[in-house]
Amino acid sequence: MALTGIQIFKLLPKTNCKECGEPTCLAFAMKLAAGKAELASCPYVSDEAKEQLSEASAPPIRGVVIGTGDNSIKVGEELVLYRHEKTFVNPTAIAILIEDSMSDDEIKGKIDQLNNNTYERVGLILKAHLAALRCKSGDAAKFKALVEKVSGMTSDGLILISDSADVIKEAVSVCADKKPLICGATKDTADAFAAIAKESKVPVAIKGSIDDVIEITQKMTAAGIKDIVIDADEASYKDTIKNQIIIRRAALKKKFRPLGFPTISFACDMTDDKLFETTLAAGLINKYAGIVVVSEIDPPSVLALTVNRMNIYTDPQRPMVMDQGVYEFNNPDANSPLLITTNFALTYFIVSAEIEASRVPAWLLIMDTEGMSVLTAWSAGKFVADAMAPFVLKSGISDKLGHKNIIIPGYVAQLSGEFQEELGSEWEVAVGPREAGDIPKYLRKLAGI
Ligand code: SF4
Repeated sequence: MALTGIQIFKLLPKTNCKECGEPTCLAFAMKLAAGKAELASCPYVSDEAKEQLSEASAPPIRGVVIGTGDNSIKVGEELVLYRHEKTFVNPTAIAILIEDSMSDDEIKGKIDQLNNNTYERVGLILKAHLAALRCKSGDAAKFKALVEKVSGMTSDGLILISDSADVIKEAVSVCADKKPLICGATKDTADAFAAIAKESKVPVAIKGSIDDVIEITQKMTAAGIKDIVIDADEASYKDTIKNQIIIRRAALKKKFRPLGFPTISFACDMTDDKLFETTLAAGLINKYAGIVVVSEIDPPSVLALTVNRMNIYTDPQRPMVMDQGVYEFNNPDANSPLLITTNFALTYFIVSAEIEASRVPAWLLIMDTEGMSVLTAWSAGKFVADAMAPFVLKSGISDKLGHKNIIIPGYVAQLSGEFQEELGSEWEVAVGPREAGDIPKYLRKLAGI
């Protein structure tokens, strides 16, 4: 069980030296107990105390890594129940289901979906990350052949699913170096699955009712197995969501370690209607699933799920930003027009899409305004003439241009005179459209087309 603040306090040096950033050791202990401080912040904790405190300072939901290298994925380590409290940490991993009863063409089609259905949005890569391989035949050799085949077709992580520990043992023997998640141990098979997990150093998923799960996780952690994922799916979607909430609440609010693990949920088994399955999977992403397994990741479903996931897992307190700098569109040259705007990612992507759509070669200066949009940055004193002019002059854009004309967003037309003064008489400031949607027409007119 997690330690209380007072129990932690008793293990601290009690010198109140303040080096951890807290006024007293007691304040630090309380924050540590609440998961709001790092043990490493106190340089004076003894090794003996560290060992006892590591439990208290561990994340209330363990982080579990599946796969290795660049394509590994971590689930868990969440700290809050609601996204608006802080932020969610490790985005739900989406897995595509592949069964050993499928034909070679079907398997290839699924892997193509996993490997190729990748999208970029506001600078982020959106994709599914795991292949969930299920033994439907009960034939260990057949399943092993599937695992070997898929291992060679994708560098993404693997989930191996069978009720039989013998089947899993055979399959792990050909892919342990990829650190797959083995799934799913029950009360009856927990010992056999734990032995495989320990020997092959792979994470293990367990399944059952909440009471069963508590019993199995306690048994496995006592045996030294730490990387556990919980499958608490029920026959009804309502009960599945209920279990997800119980697990998350127990781990975060009660610091109940036996449920302090990420979860896996099988949307693929909940309906035969593919569109409805995507809807159910989206609900599971919203309500705490660490991994969601789906039957298809064709473009409409993967885009819907990954955009939903992105919205849930971006930090609501930190705007998404672009790097400050010079951006090129449609192969500009020295005569191409120059525009300027702020580094709020949404502003950038809307403006850049319109410039691209205009097909007019152009330069775009993105200025660091701490992620504020044009009007907000202007009213906060970040996108104002005496800040913009030095940025333009130092940006190096003058070396690329044969002219000194710059277009500002229509919403800040009022700063054109001052901006002109700050830039100097050789520059000419023009006021562009207020709405990004009018940029193509504006640029085409400027280019005489
Ligand atoms: S750094 Fe350690 S000893 Fe100093 S006040 Fe913080 S908890 Fe106490």
